[in-house]
Amino acid sequence: MEPMKQLRAVVRQYWGFDELRPLQAEAMQLALTRRDSLVVLPTGGGKSLCFQAPALCMPGLAVVVSPLISLMKDQVDALVDRGVAAAAVNSTSSPAERRRVADEIRAERLKLLYLSPERLTSEQMLTFLTGVKLSFFAIDEAHCISQWGHDFRPEYRELKLLKETFPDTPVHAYTATATATVREEIARELRLERPETLVGAFDRPNLVYRVLRRGDKMKQITEVIERHADESGVIYCLRRADVDELCEQLQAAGYTAAPYHAGMDERARHDSQEAFANDRVKIIVATVAFGMGIDKSDVRFVLHAAAPKSLESYQQESGRAGRDGLEAECCLFFSGADFMAWRRMQSELPPPALEAAMALLDGIEKFCLTVNCRHQAIVNYFGQTLPNENCGACDVCLGDVEYQADALVIAQKILSCVVRLQSGFGAAYVTNVLVGSREQRILEREHDQLSTHGILQEFDSKHIRGWVEQLVEQGFLAKSGEYNVLQITASGRELLRGNATPRLLKPSTKPRRESRAAKESWEGVDRELFESLRSLRRRKADERGLPPFVVFSDVTLRDMARRRPMTPEQMLAVHGVGQQKCAQYGAEFIAAIRSYCELHGVGDGRTIESFDDEPTVAPKRSSKGAKAAAFELFAQRRSIEDVCQKLSRAPSTVQSYLLEFMTEREIDDPTPWLDAGLFEQIRQAACQVETGQLTPLFEALRGAATYDQIRVALAALKNFSEK
Ligand code: ADP
Ligand code: ZN
Repeated sequence: MEPMKQLRAVVRQYWGFDELRPLQAEAMQLALTRRDSLVVLPTGGGKSLCFQAPALCMPGLAVVVSPLISLMKDQVDALVDRGVAAAAVNSTSSPAERRRVADEIRAERLKLLYLSPERLTSEQMLTFLTGVKLSFFAIDEAHCISQWGHDFRPEYRELKLLKETFPDTPVHAYTATATATVREEIARELRLERPETLVGAFDRPNLVYRVLRRGDKMKQITEVIERHADESGVIYCLRRADVDELCEQLQAAGYTAAPYHAGMDERARHDSQEAFANDRVKIIVATVAFGMGIDKSDVRFVLHAAAPKSLESYQQESGRAGRDGLEAECCLFFSGADFMAWRRMQSELPPPALEAAMALLDGIEKFCLTVNCRHQAIVNYFGQTLPNENCGACDVCLGDVEYQADALVIAQKILSCVVRLQSGFGAAYVTNVLVGSREQRILEREHDQLSTHGILQEFDSKHIRGWVEQLVEQGFLAKSGEYNVLQITASGRELLRGNATPRLLKPSTKPRRESRAAKESWEGVDRELFESLRSLRRRKADERGLPPFVVFSDVTLRDMARRRPMTPEQMLAVHGVGQQKCAQYGAEFIAAIRSYCELHGVGDGRTIESFDDEPTVAPKRSSKGAKAAAFELFAQRRSIEDVCQKLSRAPSTVQSYLLEFMTEREIDDPTPWLDAGLFEQIRQAACQVETGQLTPLFEALRGAATYDQIRVALAALKNFSEK
């Protein structure tokens, strides 16, 4: 078979993907033709597949360099669960495990080996690998080699030994860091030979960006969390103390949150990270120390409780949301104080680095204050542009914010106030004068006598403060000196004469609109079925000791809840279901879908009768006859199994008859079909959960009862309470 065809078949078979993402095909082609390469794709762009799939199509072993044990573990677990022969050797592997891996390599069975850079470049490993047939080296997170990157790791420098020791083995580097300096340094340090460089599009259309001035922080944060009930999210804070404080506040408010920062010991950090990966904790509150080890693809929101130090960091940190391609929300809450804090924290840097750091800060400050599309602003920063005017996925384009009607008049009032104050005061003071504050320092200076005192008193001071910043950002005002004193600029003078058109935002009162990505990805998805498949996924993940997103991604689960596959063939058509996944989990998910469909009378147009696939000797009755017969048997208190057998019907069908029977006859004692002890347990849990919804109840019971058992119990309780 032609190599690229074979490759697509492999992607289909092991990953269940029909399409490749942008540049994946090109990157794989380079791997197959053994040409050195440098692949730059944004976070979530699908870099891993670029080396994992070719490794399966080429003779020999691919060696993958990864900087963190947790990253290796996630990737290897996910590969093995797809049926790919992959392994990692690191400080946590036992001697027996190492021997097993070495044997697999000698027998030429292993296709991918994950190593840390220091282990790979150890003399022992290099010697071992010279005796092994290699397909290529893949260097993940390659920017770690660069001193200009944000994650410099000296161990990565030793990777130059690869080309010296294995001159004929191709080396491929992968990173999400885009700047040209970093790229050049990677190619040089790895000694890549005539590398082909691929740079992907930096826009992440599935992310919705919202940037807001920080007000009541806790309220702003909980509003976002509430929009994502039961979904995973990351909250970044500036300092460790902020992390601890916010985390405690969230816990006190009843959210499951865990902290993560460099001041915690290794063990505690690991626990937080693992609890998050396994969905035991929904929210991680962290400093920037949290990040690279996170492969979790279903992070649905990333919040910044304070501004990050550069737009590049923002792109990286916010980029941890929605790696699975589904919609996710990124909110940044900033205040002028954040930029001052960053300036202070970095003031000790040596001069060239200091200058660079200050320029980066200016960049992010500008981004926060812009009144234009956020997507456009981010990709512009990376030297790219977007074709559309309206991205449909940021606060500006979604109309979360609206333009203030008489912006010119308002701007003139603000500017003339600055002039009257003789350019001697900062934004906060100017704002106070404009709203007509009678605070001590204003009265002392007799600024309450100015004609501009109280001239904007009909507005909120928070809004005015925002407008001042917007006028600075648009160049009508400038801040100068240590105290950020406001001054009017040349274009500001033009504005006073009415020769300019400023744009001022007003916070919208309109309800939030759903982003385009959200609308599309939920299109046709049966949300209730999705929820019940999600619980099943959680159980399977717990059984296997894997994070749920490794079992099936959210994309896959939504597609399943959209297509409702009822046969293995249909299951294989679901996005992200390869052969191994189908063999491993297919039967149980199909069973869950079937019983859901029968209960709800939905499906692919076939009648419930035809779902019964057990061959049956007894002639099939019509469902009406079967139901009547089932009712008779239930009246004799016969068990579900008995009825199934007697009527040759699937358990799920009989279960739905039973629920109908209980409702119709007002049965409040479920004990013929449910153990009395279990019934009592469900009753108690139901009193506590109170919502009347199945999933929370199921979860509260921690697997003690099945959904079917819960339904029977609820039917009985309902009849009891109605009597
Ligand atoms: P990166 O390393 O570039 O941040 P990953 O390799 O972790 O990205 O991939 C992000 C997510 O996208 C993963 O859940 C992966 O399974 C999924 N993915 C990768 N390639 C494809 C594809 N061609 N079609 C669908 N999903 C894909
Ligand atoms: Zn936009």
